[in-house]
Amino acid sequence: MIVVENLHKHFGGFHAVDGASLEIRQGSVTGLIGPNGAGKTTLFNVVAGRLAPTSGRVLMDGEDITGLPPHALFHKGLLRTFQIAHEFSSMTVRENLMMVPAGQLGETLWNTWFRRGAIAAEERALAQKADEVLEFLTISHLADERAGNLSGGQKKLLELGRTMMVDAKVVFLDEVGAGVNRTLLNTIGDAIERLNRERGYTFCVIEHDMDFISRICDPVICMAEGKVLAQGTVEEIKNDERVIEAYLGT
Ligand code: ADP
Repeated sequence: MIVVENLHKHFGGFHAVDGASLEIRQGSVTGLIGPNGAGKTTLFNVVAGRLAPTSGRVLMDGEDITGLPPHALFHKGLLRTFQIAHEFSSMTVRENLMMVPAGQLGETLWNTWFRRGAIAAEERALAQKADEVLEFLTISHLADERAGNLSGGQKKLLELGRTMMVDAKVVFLDEVGAGVNRTLLNTIGDAIERLNRERGYTFCVIEHDMDFISRICDPVICMAEGKVLAQGTVEEIKNDERVIEAYLGT
C-alpha cells in the first residue's frame, strides 16, 4: 500500500534518513522500531508530508505521493496522529473529535466555530459520529471531559479517535506506549486490532515497548542510522544479530 523507495532526508550534512526503503502491506499493522536517533520519526514526517525529502520516493497504491502536503494526503486517507494541540486542550473530547473533518481541510478554528453555529444539522451528525467513535474506543464516559485533563493513554485514544472521524485508510501512529499504563495500553492495542480487522485500517506504528509490538505488529521493521536494518516477524527481529547489535551499540 505504501512503498518508500531509497529515501534520504539530510539536515545540513547530517543524514537522518539515509537511503531507507520499505513497504507497508495493505491490511498490516507494521511496527517500526530502532534505537533513538535511527530516523523513524523523520521518515514518518516525510511520508506524512510534514518534511520534504532530500531524495527518494513515497508511493501509495502505486501513485507517487512524495512531497504532497498533509491535507492532500488526508484526502487520500493517509493520516498521521498528533498530540492534541494546545489550543484544543480546553475543548471537550467530543468537541475535539467534531473539529477533525473541517479542521483537517485547512479551515481555521474560527471559521469552523462559525460554521458550527450556521449548520446545526451537520453539527448533530458530527456529534453522533463522535459519540460512536467514543463508544468504539470504550471512552464514552470522557465525552464531556476537557482534552487537557486526560491522561497520556486517554489522549492517545483520542488521537486514534480523530482518525476515525474521517475515512482513514492508513494511519501512522507515533509512540503509543510512552508513559501509558498497562491497562490503557491494552485498550489502545484492542482499538488498533479492531480498527485493523473490522474497518480495514492499515497501521504503521513507531513503538519501543516490545510486548506491545509482539502483541499487535506483523511485520516489524527495524531501522538504524537512517537505514532499514531488518524486517520480519517479531521473533525473527528479536533474534536478528544486526538488530541486537544496533541496540547494544546505543
Ligand atoms: P528516531 O525517531 O528514530 O529516534 P529521529 O528521526 O527523531 O529518530 O532523528 C534522527 C536523527 O535526526 C537524530 O539524530 C536527530 O537529532 C536528527 N534530527 C531530527 N530532526 C532534525 C532537525 N529538524 N534538524 C536537525 N537534525 C534533526
